[in-house]
Amino acid sequence: MISRLREIFFGEKIEYFGALPYSEATETRGYLFNRSGLIPKSVIPFIVPYYTGEADNISAYAAVPDYHFIVGEMISRITDELKKEYPAYSFIGFTDHSPIDERAAALKAGLGVKGKNGLIINEKYGSYIFIAAIFTDMPMPETVYRTVADTKYGCIGCDRCIAACPTGTLAFVHSGESDFSLCPECLSSITQKKGAHSEEEIALMKKHNTVWGCDICQKVCPHNKNIPKTPIEGFLNDRIPTLTEDIINGMSDEEFQRRAFSFRGRAVPLRNLKEVNN
Ligand code: SF4
Ligand code: SF4
Repeated sequence: MISRLREIFFGEKIEYFGALPYSEATETRGYLFNRSGLIPKSVIPFIVPYYTGEADNISAYAAVPDYHFIVGEMISRITDELKKEYPAYSFIGFTDHSPIDERAAALKAGLGVKGKNGLIINEKYGSYIFIAAIFTDMPMPETVYRTVADTKYGCIGCDRCIAACPTGTLAFVHSGESDFSLCPECLSSITQKKGAHSEEEIALMKKHNTVWGCDICQKVCPHNKNIPKTPIEGFLNDRIPTLTEDIINGMSDEEFQRRAFSFRGRAVPLRNLKEVNN
């Protein structure tokens, strides 16, 4: 069974997947199964690498088409194949909210380790990865299965991400302080918020030349050095490494909706561009 799963996932250029009993997963939104009626017995977490090279004024994840489209289409094809192969069972995936903590499932399946930057780091693709999962009522092996068994690599605890974080968010997270209302806002979320930016926020965005997201704690991480580009064509063929007003204004609504920077509407990235380029 695992070798057939491997063929199906490798057919989508997914090299890292795992399989674990559903009882091993941390359920967070079990009600999401209500619509399908699935009573899950197993979860198959997998890693979708998205690095396509350096981006300029935008996070690497937003330089490529939105995860929900590329991974959603991928999940449909994988579940179709699985249904053909195992017709007695059901297979479903979720691209928005998940019924489980997918990061925890990926960690449990040995697909990566947790970095001090809060991200999951895969041994080959670093932290430039999305995590997804497929759920089934098909029983899986009792023990956790993973495509690659090497867990010797891992966050080396160099603290470069903490030192480089421009807002002090990571320093706060690792300070032991439990009152998270005191946590400085991450630059990524600053770029995504509606309403007016303060002078300090604009200065931060200008200094780090970002109009959407922040990759600083990924860029400095040694585990992201010399990582390969994703083999997934949907990401490679449609990237926007430099966001401009002309690009945003020239997109149809449909094209715009396929980008991660669309979720706040056009006004937010356009405002950021004005602020950063002013
Ligand atoms: S994304 Fe940027 S601001 Fe947010 S934690 Fe990482 S380095 Fe700090
Ligand atoms: S920069 Fe260093 S401490 Fe931070 S996640 Fe990477 S290896 Fe770990």
